[in-house]
Amino acid sequence: MDKRIVILGSGESGTGAALLAQRKGYDVFVSDMGMIGEAFKKELTDAGIAFEEGQHTESLILNATEIIKSPGIPHTAPLVKQALAKGIPVISEIEFAGRYSSAKKICITGTNGKTTTTSLVYHLLKTAGLDVAVGGNIGTSYARLLLEKDYDYVVLEISSFQLDDMYAFRADIAVITNITPDHLDRYDYQLQHYINAKFRITQNQLQGDVLIYCDDDALTKQNLQQIQGNAVLIPFAWDTPHKPGAYVKDGSMICTIPEQINNPFTMHMNELSLKGRHNGYNSMAAAIIGQVLNIRKETIRESLMSFQNVEHRLEPVMSVGGVEFINDSKATNVNSAWYALESMEKPTIWIAGGVDKGNDYLLLKELVKEKVRIIVCLGLDNRKIHEAFGTEVDMIVNTTSMNEAVHVAHKLAKPGEAVLLSPACASFDLFKNYEDRGRQFKKEVKAL
Ligand code: ADP
Repeated sequence: MDKRIVILGSGESGTGAALLAQRKGYDVFVSDMGMIGEAFKKELTDAGIAFEEGQHTESLILNATEIIKSPGIPHTAPLVKQALAKGIPVISEIEFAGRYSSAKKICITGTNGKTTTTSLVYHLLKTAGLDVAVGGNIGTSYARLLLEKDYDYVVLEISSFQLDDMYAFRADIAVITNITPDHLDRYDYQLQHYINAKFRITQNQLQGDVLIYCDDDALTKQNLQQIQGNAVLIPFAWDTPHKPGAYVKDGSMICTIPEQINNPFTMHMNELSLKGRHNGYNSMAAAIIGQVLNIRKETIRESLMSFQNVEHRLEPVMSVGGVEFINDSKATNVNSAWYALESMEKPTIWIAGGVDKGNDYLLLKELVKEKVRIIVCLGLDNRKIHEAFGTEVDMIVNTTSMNEAVHVAHKLAKPGEAVLLSPACASFDLFKNYEDRGRQFKKEVKAL
């Protein structure tokens, strides 16, 4: 065996990559600086794959012909730097898996809306009866999907960290949902580096491939000229008509693709199962994909009507005494909270706060003034929220546990109002992660 693949990081993507690499006949070694989860460890052991945890042994790593790096490990990690200095290629698990798949690849990236759009597109293709799998940055890694079989279609959510280490991979259909500043700590605090990472989704696209993007998104639009490939560009926008493309006219989406320029797909926005303007965008992206893949219009309509949203994204929990509770715990940045607030149709008690990643709350000021009556802060440091919104709302209350936040919100809310958890911040000051935060919210609401 002449080729040695070393995998750094053994989460879902690392373990998937290890199993696939072994299947393809490589000499495989897995190294994780932290402790490997029990389930993954068992899989590696059962497969007879060599691994280490709690350390990186240089002599076992720097002899690799290729390294597959987990997206969680930055390029500045000493070992990664050493490997690159030695000329060892460092790639992502998606890049590796892509070599072994002839599936039509529908790849979705963007700052917000990746998981929602990926799940929606999967639901659409599944409803259409296609042989399709979903994975990547959500659920099952791409490499692991390929252990089962090579599907006709894969719908992949791809993060900027995964795109960083992708070189030859080609997306048949690429989507950039939007780009707003995020994760800048991993991009030398250079927004352009983050933008460039997102645009890697379109590198290698060929004539006939498709790039779908949001024409209302300033950063995407400004950077589109980077694209030198031959991909067909299909925009979606709210007010500005696009043909080909998608937009909203008199409350209906009008969605046209180049091949059927006189035969648009139309659907009233009220019929969409996903609510809010941001989800209107996500639904338009999905409808374009449906048309590009020649899925019947009736099936596209049915799918967009029947889709059940993923947990923690504007998820209705229940009404208590005429007060509606909504879980949008996944809103970990200002942009996603903006869309949540924008979609609110009732006076709102807004639960916000946590670990702020350099938030500019000015962007929310007007919406807060218009939609929010009371802010319930849920975080250890709420100074910036008080400073930004002190004069915009009737009251701001500090809380430090979900139990307290839900009880305070319930007490202050009047029938006909809504309580929205959409924190605009990361969760790790008080919670394990955003899922933990969302689940605790639902538990406390159900116990009221
Ligand atoms: P991602 O996988 O990119 O983090 P999600 O679909 O999980 O995106 O949604 C993350 C947050 O962003 C949620 O609060 C959701 O309501 C909001 N969101 C979803 N789609 C969009 C969009 N197109 N633009 C802005 N915010 C969005």
